[in-house]
Amino acid sequence: MEQLPIPHPSLPADSSPIGILGGTFDPLHFGHLRLAQELAQQLALDEVRIIPAGSPPHRAPPSAAVQHRLEMVRLGLAGNPLLILDEREISKSTPSYTVETLLDLRRELGAARPLCLFLGSDAFLGLAGWHRWRELFELAHVVVAQRPGHPGLARAAATMPAQLRDELNRRLTNEAEALRSAPAGAIIVQPVTALDISATQIREELAAGRSPCYLLPDAVLDYIQTHSLYKDIDET
Ligand code: ATP
Repeated sequence: MEQLPIPHPSLPADSSPIGILGGTFDPLHFGHLRLAQELAQQLALDEVRIIPAGSPPHRAPPSAAVQHRLEMVRLGLAGNPLLILDEREISKSTPSYTVETLLDLRRELGAARPLCLFLGSDAFLGLAGWHRWRELFELAHVVVAQRPGHPGLARAAATMPAQLRDELNRRLTNEAEALRSAPAGAIIVQPVTALDISATQIREELAAGRSPCYLLPDAVLDYIQTHSLYKDIDET
């Protein structure tokens, strides 16, 4: 596929890219943490912002209340200086649109700083349903990690919406350097350790009275148990 992104003339040489991982984190689990940790290490990023969604517009409302999800993320990230909790979405009462979050980050960090939006492959395949999704590529690079149990991008290309396939064909590169030579615009696919863990599975285990231990940090599980979260939920 054709290589892109357009070099940015004003990009300072020492402008280290920032990773961004958004999600409902209902609750945070090791799939999220390894994704963020491995991508940060592979791409030599100094920082990954973990951004819990307040009211996610393109999925069912989260089970746990905002303050619980926030606290679970805080506990799960504790002691890791690479992963920084960013509360800008969760404190909003309006829907959490990623495009607005990235515009906000741009205002804060400037036009030249490379931003790398981390997405599991399931999230990437749904991207064409996101609000003003094409603008995302003007604001950030997209780093896709294969999620176990979901088709790889090469296999899914035939069935993905044509507009998304066009963007993928135009922007896909395997040069990690592309993330430093422009502030936004590239798509890169990175391998990460396959951890077939989902928050849905954890909620189901808890609702059935089973322990989801070893799927998420102990501190997060302790918090869930202390506050009796996810006991009476129905995922159907
Ligand atoms: P749910 O089961 O409630 O849908 P989830 O486990 O998918 O939740 P999210 O908070 O929706 O978690 O995910 C946030 C981001 O993390 C998404 O981009 C998603 O693709 C990615 N992600 C979540 N779990 C994994 C995993 N096990 N491996 C790789 N990526 C993951």
